[in-house]
Amino acid sequence: MFELPELTVIAAQMNDVLPGLVVAAGTIGVSPHRFVWYDREPEEFAALTAGLRVGRAWAEGKWLFVPLEPGRVLLIGEWGGRIRYHADAADLPAKRHLDLTFTTGAALSATTQMWGGVHLVEAGREREVKYVKDMRPTPLDERFDRAYFGELVAAAGQDGRRSVKGLLTQEQLIPGLGNAIAQDIMARARLHPRRPLSTLDEVRLEGLYEAITETVRAVIAAGGRSDERDLFGHPGGYARLMDARAVGRPCVTCGTPVEKISYLGGACYFCPACQT
Ligand SMILES: [Zn+2]
Repeated sequence: MFELPELTVIAAQMNDVLPGLVVAAGTIGVSPHRFVWYDREPEEFAALTAGLRVGRAWAEGKWLFVPLEPGRVLLIGEWGGRIRYHADAADLPAKRHLDLTFTTGAALSATTQMWGGVHLVEAGREREVKYVKDMRPTPLDERFDRAYFGELVAAAGQDGRRSVKGLLTQEQLIPGLGNAIAQDIMARARLHPRRPLSTLDEVRLEGLYEAITETVRAVIAAGGRSDERDLFGHPGGYARLMDARAVGRPCVTCGTPVEKISYLGGACYFCPACQT
């Protein structure tokens, strides 16, 4: 599943190769998939995209925004798979849920193994899409400062039950984070996934804030996680500290074997000695 860092990398790569390209044909629904949500019928998508010119893309939360000018923005969100540029449209994968071919002969494709959303909206209305509307500040947003973070944690932890992992992965409280990057954030902050937010003192809160912003930036700087692929099909350079391969191996800090638990809809990998 792409998280904010991978989508930020893909948006930047798109801006190296796509702006100015003119859509020859836009196609959705080549491969049927129950869990891809489209806001258009295939004929409508084709008619609305033909002849439009690609503008500069950006990422926000788990969404990628690709302007098709004039007048439209293509949104690809909650995507668990591939988003790929093809210098030659003949290389389009047989299985795909969206493609744009360009008048130069190049193409863009998107394929998901899990689920995803594809929306083609009028420019200026992209913030009205469900899950984008009311999106909170992401860790790359300048509004995501220490004061904002303190208020967010206080509100989220008010009932005494919400945990650190809950903050990082539930309800898009921090948009763009997911189960993958959350593991490394908790390792850096030395916090147990189940630890209630209400028990965090100022020092731990500060550490968690720094772990979030630093981990997101580190993954972007490395070109995304190594278990995802970028726009050109290359794996990212960020190897996760805590993933399935880490289980049973010694923690890099203290040597205690890394453990795995199932918690809040996904596996957690953590050091039982360092993360309390
Ligand atoms: Zn440890």
